[in-house]
Amino acid sequence: MFALVDCNNFFVSCERVFNPKLENQPIVILSNNDGCVIARSNEAKMLGIKMGAPYFEVKNIIQKYSIFVFSSNYKLYGNMSRRVFSNLKEFTQNLEEYSIDEAFLDLGGMNNLDLASYGMKIRSIVKRNTGIPVSIGIGKTKTLAKIANFHAKQSSGVVLLKENDAELLKNTSLNQIWGIGKQHLIKLHSLGIQNAFGLQQINSNLSKSFDSHLLKTIYEIKGYSCKPIEQAIPPKNIISSRSFCKSTNSLDDIKLNLATYTAKACEKLRKYNSTANSITVFLRGKNYSSKKEINYGFEATDDTRSITKLALNCLSLIYNEKDLYHKAGIILHNIEHKNSTKSTLKILSNHSHRLKTMQAIDGINRKYKGKKIYIASEKSLFSRYPSKSEMKSSALSSLIEVS
Ligand SMILES: [Mg+2]
Repeated sequence: MFALVDCNNFFVSCERVFNPKLENQPIVILSNNDGCVIARSNEAKMLGIKMGAPYFEVKNIIQKYSIFVFSSNYKLYGNMSRRVFSNLKEFTQNLEEYSIDEAFLDLGGMNNLDLASYGMKIRSIVKRNTGIPVSIGIGKTKTLAKIANFHAKQSSGVVLLKENDAELLKNTSLNQIWGIGKQHLIKLHSLGIQNAFGLQQINSNLSKSFDSHLLKTIYEIKGYSCKPIEQAIPPKNIISSRSFCKSTNSLDDIKLNLATYTAKACEKLRKYNSTANSITVFLRGKNYSSKKEINYGFEATDDTRSITKLALNCLSLIYNEKDLYHKAGIILHNIEHKNSTKSTLKILSNHSHRLKTMQAIDGINRKYKGKKIYIASEKSLFSRYPSKSEMKSSALSSLIEVS
C-alpha cells in the first residue's frame, strides 16, 4: 500500500503558520520578481484568481477584495518542507520526496492496520507539529494513491481508494490521472474513454498500441504496482580525507583530523538513509614506507560514535611515530539502504535510540548551520590547540573532500 501526502496550498499554508491572522483570508503568492500567481488560498480561488495569472492582470480583483499578496519566500517554504518530511519519516523509512510539498509513503506490511484512520493520524500529527494541513490519498499503487489524494482534497482530507471502487473511479476524469499526458488524452478520448474507470476496463487488444508509460498507468489503476518508491541511490563508498597543512607525526593531531573526516562521512551516510559495515583507514606520508592502510568490518551502523571509535583504533594499529604523515582519511564500504532486508531488523531492534540520537544531532547541526554538536574527538574550535591555523581549518572544514 502507498500513501500520497500532499500539503494543501503549500506556500499559502507556510505563510499562515507564522501569521495566524491570515487564516480564512484570501491570499496569493507571486513568482520571482512578482510576475505571476503561483499559489492561492481556497478563498482566493473562489474569488476567481487563476493559477499562473500575471499579477498586473489580477491587480484589480486583488484590490477589490483586499486579497493578501506575498512575494515567494523559498527559504521559508524549503524549511517547512523539510519539517513536514521529517515528520512523515516517523511513519515510514521508505519515503519518496516527490516535490517540495508532496511525498509518497510506502505503507507496505501495514495491511492489518485501519489505513484510513492511520492516514488521519498522520494528518493530525503533521498539522500539530508543523502547522501545515495535508491531504492524504491511500491506495494499492502510487497512481491509485494519487487519485485518492485528488478526492481527499475535495473531502475529509483522507481517502482510501480501493481499485474496485467504480464510483470514485468514474468520478476521476483522465486529466486528473497521474502520468496521462496530452497525447494520451487525445488517443484515449478518440477511443471513447473518459475516466479512470474506463481506463481500468480497457480491452487488452486495444492497449497493445499503447506506450509503456500508459500501460503502466493502466496496470496501476487495476491495482498492480509498477512504480516503486524511488529514493536517492546511495553511493558504493564514501571517502572523506584531506591533506594536513604540514606533515606531522603527532598521533593526537592525526586523531583529531581523522575523527573530523569520519563524522563528515557518517553524516553523508545518514543523508542517504544508509549504513556501512566496513571501513578503510589510511595514512599517507612523504615516503612509501609511511603509506599505510587497514580495513575493518563490523555490524552495519550509521552511528558516528561507533564508527569513530573503530576508526581511531584502526589508526593506532597503522600509525608509526617514526614516520611523518601529510594526509589521513577514511572510506566507508558496503553501504546499504536501511530498508534493505539485511540491515533493517538489526537496526530497528538494537539501535533505535542510537539512531534517534544521530538524527537529532544532524537536525541541530543543519538547523543552526555548521557544527554545533560534535563528538569530543573531532577537531573543533575548542580543541587543545586554539591557534590561528586552528581557526582556519575549522572554517575550511566544509572543504574536506567527501566524494
Ligand atoms: Mg500541494
